[in-house]
Amino acid sequence: MSETASDKHIVILGAGHAGGRAAEALRQAGHKGRVTLLGAENHPPYERPPLSKELLAGAIAHEKTYLHPEEWYAEQGIDLKLGANAVGIDRKARRVALEAGGDISYDALLLTTGARARRLPLPGGNGKRVFYLRDIADTLALREKLTEGVRLAIIGAGFIGLEIAATARKRGVAVTVIELAPTPLARVAAPEIGEFLATLHRGKGVDLRTGLKVTAIEDTGSEVRVLVEGGEPVVADYVAIGIGAQPNVEIAQAAGIEVRDGILVDEFGRTNDPAIFAAGDVTRHLNPLLGRHVRLEAWQNAQNQGIAVAKAIAGSGAAFAEVPWFWTDQFEVNLQMAGAPDRWDRVVWRGEPTEPAFTLFQLLEGKVVAAVTINNMRDMRFARMLIQSGKIVDPAALGDKAVKLQDLVR
Ligand SMILES: Cc1cc2nc3c(=O)[nH]c(=O)nc-3n(C[C@H](O)[C@H](O)[C@H](O)COP(=O)(O)OP(=O)(O)OC[C@H]3O[C@@H](n4cnc5c(N)ncnc54)[C@H](O)[C@@H]3O)c2cc1C
Repeated sequence: MSETASDKHIVILGAGHAGGRAAEALRQAGHKGRVTLLGAENHPPYERPPLSKELLAGAIAHEKTYLHPEEWYAEQGIDLKLGANAVGIDRKARRVALEAGGDISYDALLLTTGARARRLPLPGGNGKRVFYLRDIADTLALREKLTEGVRLAIIGAGFIGLEIAATARKRGVAVTVIELAPTPLARVAAPEIGEFLATLHRGKGVDLRTGLKVTAIEDTGSEVRVLVEGGEPVVADYVAIGIGAQPNVEIAQAAGIEVRDGILVDEFGRTNDPAIFAAGDVTRHLNPLLGRHVRLEAWQNAQNQGIAVAKAIAGSGAAFAEVPWFWTDQFEVNLQMAGAPDRWDRVVWRGEPTEPAFTLFQLLEGKVVAAVTINNMRDMRFARMLIQSGKIVDPAALGDKAVKLQDLVR
């Protein structure tokens, strides 16, 4: 990687979580050359998990989510340009064009453009009473509306939708969640976990309606009516939509970088252009532990892939190879999930879903491919080790709380 040696100019496009950590890691890896960090938002890099939790609840100020205060970047010799939306990449000239005019040349370019909230492609999906949640501005706009007694309809019972539901209930909001699938989290978790969360939310007063297809959102001027196929409309004051995220790949795609629902990269974050790398939510990256490419939307992936790829650019990197890990907090439940399985052939319970804490393992051909802990983070470390080891495990021992998980890892 001679073109990325220590005196070269590294441009990071996307000042989010991955971009911020990558800039930091470049300096930590001893990169002495210029580092420019371009961000479309007006905030320095920040962590998004609190956006649907503590920040939406009003428990913290938005600055609390920042990785570092804005002035830290100048102190590190990192040229942080905020409100700087990049609109094009000229790979031949190695230049990034900015919407405000002008362009910036690079020796190496790291794309950390993240993802955006998927819009509901239906009539009314972008109305005045409709909210999405991806950035600080979205959270502050929604938070203002979530006052005692307000009626909120949430479309989508994925992580974001359920976290908004839990936070809104804590603020005294009347919440109805509408989900197309028969259980929450159908895209990412075992149905058993979806059932568990459905019971949790219903027990907290959330009106969770599954198996319902939304056809349109009507704004009457004073309220909204969410129309559903074959059922009564859901009437609310506001609607929040959480139907997944879409990677911001367009700028890379237009430049001829290979994209497959995510910028395609290897375990070092390398694209098909030797001067261009990518990290974070925007990537479909090779995970050597899983032996396949995955696109993840998770804090751990943003942070650690950002760091790993920055080090690779600085010439001191190892492959990014971690068991995918994610968490969510809803009401008093901390859920952690490891693995990214596309299939499994059995589940093993360690504990019962009626207990305050338990773990569910997903197995394929005798090997643990995923695990979900509910208020049981102690199990998570060993669950990840089991997934990574690829060992055949005895399901009876796995489900027996008298057997220590660490003994199964050995
Ligand atoms: C509400 C919410 C709650 C979450 N909760 C959890 C959780 O509990 N646990 C968990 O593991 N994960 C959670 N996540 C996921 C996690 O926050 C993301 O995986 C992480 O933020 C991804 O980081 P990133 O840097 O790849 O992308 P982002 O954080 O999206 O950053 C990308 C940045 O690039 C900028 N950008 C894009 N295009 C351009 C351009 N052309 N020019 C300039 N700038 C550009 C964007 O404006 C953005 O600021 C949550 C996400 C959200 C939205």
